[in-house]
Amino acid sequence: MGALPVYRWRLAPDGYATRRQLRAAGLRPGGQDVAATLERPRRRRGPLVAYLYRVDLAKPVRPMTPGRRAALAAANAARRTCPQCRRDAGYVIPPSLGTCTTCAFPDNAVPAGPSAAHGICA
Ligand SMILES: [Zn+2]
Repeated sequence: MGALPVYRWRLAPDGYATRRQLRAAGLRPGGQDVAATLERPRRRRGPLVAYLYRVDLAKPVRPMTPGRRAALAAANAARRTCPQCRRDAGYVIPPSLGTCTTCAFPDNAVPAGPSAAHGICA
């Protein structure tokens, strides 16, 4: 590995971008090594260094495929399902409770008539 080319701030050649710039363009470095560095001299301190990647070697950020979307949705549904009453709580079950709030606080449940829905959770 030879020394990396170092460019002055704002004088980066075309075709190079920082990780953040790649990300803004929907790209990622894709495993490539840093291709160059940018240095911005600062007074009293060492120069500010930015790492540049080659845009032509960058890969697109992994697109959201239907399979991935379904997997994510299933994972989210699992996190919303109360392990005690097996119902979709409509929100992510708080880890501190471990169950939906209705199961965690059955006495605080909104009184909906004589023992309506009571016993399902407990
Ligand atoms: Zn529950």
